[in-house]
Amino acid sequence: MYSVTKTAALAGIGTVPVRVEADVSDGLPVFEMVGFLGSEVREARERVKTAIRNSGFTLPVKRITINLYPADVRKSGTAYDLAVALSLLSACGFVAKEDLEDVFVAGEVGLDGSVLPVRGILPMVLDAAGEKIKKCMVPYDNLAEAQLSKGIKILPVKSLKQAVAILNGEEEPPEEEESNDEEEPQENEPDFKDICGQKVLKRACEVAAAGMHNLLMIGSAGAGKSMAAKCLPSILPPMTKEERIELLRIESVAGEVDRKKALSMQRPVRSPHHTITPQGMAGGGNGVIRPGEISLAHNGVLFLDEFTEYMPSALELLRQPLEEGKITLVRVSGSYSYPSDFMLVCAMNPCQCGEFPDRNRCRCTKSQLDRYIGKLSKPILDRIDLCVEVSRMDFRELTGRKKREEGSKAIRRRVIAAQKKQLKRFQGEEFRFNSRIPSEKIEHYIPLGDKEMALMENLFRELELSARGYFKILKVARTIADLNGHEGVEIADLSEAACYRSLDKQYWER
Ligand SMILES: [Zn+2]
Repeated sequence: MYSVTKTAALAGIGTVPVRVEADVSDGLPVFEMVGFLGSEVREARERVKTAIRNSGFTLPVKRITINLYPADVRKSGTAYDLAVALSLLSACGFVAKEDLEDVFVAGEVGLDGSVLPVRGILPMVLDAAGEKIKKCMVPYDNLAEAQLSKGIKILPVKSLKQAVAILNGEEEPPEEEESNDEEEPQENEPDFKDICGQKVLKRACEVAAAGMHNLLMIGSAGAGKSMAAKCLPSILPPMTKEERIELLRIESVAGEVDRKKALSMQRPVRSPHHTITPQGMAGGGNGVIRPGEISLAHNGVLFLDEFTEYMPSALELLRQPLEEGKITLVRVSGSYSYPSDFMLVCAMNPCQCGEFPDRNRCRCTKSQLDRYIGKLSKPILDRIDLCVEVSRMDFRELTGRKKREEGSKAIRRRVIAAQKKQLKRFQGEEFRFNSRIPSEKIEHYIPLGDKEMALMENLFRELELSARGYFKILKVARTIADLNGHEGVEIADLSEAACYRSLDKQYWER
């Protein structure tokens, strides 16, 4: 007897269709599994055999062969268990072959016959729906996640026994228990109105958020760098639907779908501690590779506080994502790509003691200063669009009346207006923000008038700009123009953009 079940292998945040064949024939009673299997998949044999027995089914004393194809795709993880079990049960006559034909199946099976949740359900269900499969059988605990995909019927199951009963039409799939938990109120969210003064810092945050520009904040401890980073989510533009789905796929593979926030369009902000390992940063692990922080920050913000304290090897890994918007991980089983297009926000002290450039207070020697700055990798700094110095507040700022501070709501309104302009401008392009304009398209998207061109020529000489630095000023100026409601880039926009660059000379070319 022969039967086949549809399932899928995860490849990055996409999937490859996989079929599980089961054949039961006369011969020596052996149980064989083939098809380029990782160790967890080979172990499925024991799990499935025991689970079937504990669910009340008796396997015939015959030769059993399970084949997972295509053979050139390596299969890892435990998500094939349920498909293996159902193929086998169908080949033994417990489930009609036809009833399995139009069903996609994924899930881990416990020894007691229970069906356990797995990572990556959402990409599997989305892609199954894309392949015109009608029904999808998933672990009950993955139901909320699976339901984020439209156009496919979800059959959630808690046990192998229930799975068989549902396929045979003896039982209806369980309904989701009504949940009353609503999205948590966000009233206590950090807000820019709580930061006194610091006008330049706030403006830099606004510009960065509007164009998804990478931002570096330099200043002594307690100057408000971390607070500003915490306020960023409150002014970031909302994700588009496509951006949300991309991120959900990543979260699903990482096993981090938060059902309360799954439908929220707020951009993610990840702030890994400086002790993070390269693997935690980029992703890794055995079996199905878990995406790292840089991918979970996709379409959002990666905030690195105390930037100089991170392991150089962890920072080095940021190069590819900053360049290409994705990370490629090479493993014995193949190479996997995860999207990781984030806005990098870094904060650091100006020097070891935190007082530079105030030479009256800074006790650091020249070589100490050099060593401190030397910890930063040049290729990463090259990718910073905006650099802002955060000074301690003076007394008048500190005691200034709070109510005069502009709140996040007003800032966000400008940011969203700027985002809309960009979405319209870049229709049909692969990028959505000014910061992502490739250099060959800059002239097309940021044309300059004669006066503006003359200013840039001056700046280019005065600031001794590199080509990259020159383009960065243009891109930042484009975002500032969008915020200011200017159709074209004007002198004021360019001058402001240049202010965010002149700083780095003070630190890196002393
Ligand atoms: Zn110092």
